[in-house]
Amino acid sequence: MLPPETPILLLTTGGTIDKIYFDALSDYQVGETVMAKLLDIARVKRPFRIEEVVRKDSLELDDADRALIRDRVIAAPESHVIITHGTDTMTETAKLLATIAGKRIVLVGALAPARFGESDASFNLGMAFATVQLAEPGVYITMSGSVFRADKVVKDRAKGAFVPVEE
Ligand code: GLU
Repeated sequence: MLPPETPILLLTTGGTIDKIYFDALSDYQVGETVMAKLLDIARVKRPFRIEEVVRKDSLELDDADRALIRDRVIAAPESHVIITHGTDTMTETAKLLATIAGKRIVLVGALAPARFGESDASFNLGMAFATVQLAEPGVYITMSGSVFRADKVVKDRAKGAFVPVEE
């Protein structure tokens, strides 16, 4: 079990989890992260640090953004890392992160913004916090009520859910 004083790093990259609705003339854009607020509401006492890497819908992430996310994980002193990320290309970023040895990395997002009442954000983030504390080194995704190995899951757009890779 991870000692309670071991810190967790939370990197934010954007995605719907941090989106804000403006008005009928505009659309949803990624706003300032509300992850600190969710953790405060959850009364999290374990030490954590939040760092923003980028603030984009994950369909707009390019190779340079992904390399930057990877560099930030490697450079971090923490070996337990949660990354908030848009769900559309979460598995693509996970593939690149799989080349990092010795760290526990959990990617997490939401299908509805955290700012909305009926969002999966805080549930998914809670699962990410639990998973990063219990998992062996590797890359994981906590979505749709499950902990997935990142190379064994895909987003099923029609179902609006993450489902296991069919083998
Ligand atoms: N296009 C969005 C993204 O991947 C999908 C919704 C989401 O964030 O989960 O960023």
